[in-house]
Amino acid sequence: MIQGKLIIFSAPSGAGKTTIVKHLLKKFPLLSFSISATTRESRGDEEHEKDYYFISQEAFLHKVSHHEFVEFEEVYKGTFYGTLRSEIQRIWNEGKHVIFDIDVEGGLRLKRKYEENALAIFVQPPSLEVLKERLSGRGTDSQEKLQERFIKAEKELKYADKFDVVLKNFDLETACKEAEKLVSDFISK
Ligand code: 5GP
Repeated sequence: MIQGKLIIFSAPSGAGKTTIVKHLLKKFPLLSFSISATTRESRGDEEHEKDYYFISQEAFLHKVSHHEFVEFEEVYKGTFYGTLRSEIQRIWNEGKHVIFDIDVEGGLRLKRKYEENALAIFVQPPSLEVLKERLSGRGTDSQEKLQERFIKAEKELKYADKFDVVLKNFDLETACKEAEKLVSDFISK
């Protein structure tokens, strides 16, 4: 396979997209996770080169100036996230399809670039209130950081109709089953 496909999961933080992506990775050996680069600190049991490439802001900006990112963003004030060109190529070279866990703007940017080769899925949480509860329940962010995530989430929820598919995550098991069907149909096309 010279060029594989891209499966993009976007949603406000706390909507459950990471859980769904992890589920799909277990189900489909032909999928491989796009490890983003970020300047934020690792949280809990996150691992470098598995969950993210945790790099300094200096290293990140150096990569920006060398056009190493397909897309990147200052997702939160002073915190950058980006998809490396080399990451997509690495996965395609393995003969696999790339699966992304990425914010809404980044997801739409990838969709615009890769068009029909990409499936952009928006994960919709039951409500903003539920989202807020989930984010607070993580206990990993300061009040200030949480507030920033809430504001961003509220804005991101309005982007749902720009995606190829809106996947409701009101019940995780149902959402995972629906995600499996979407992925299986798309990669067998
Ligand atoms: P978190 O800090 O919770 O891991 O991620 C914060 C947000 O950044 C999430 O919505 C996550 O999906 C998004 N994100 C992760 N990697 C990337 C990336 O490479 N590019 C963009 N634009 N967003 C990303």
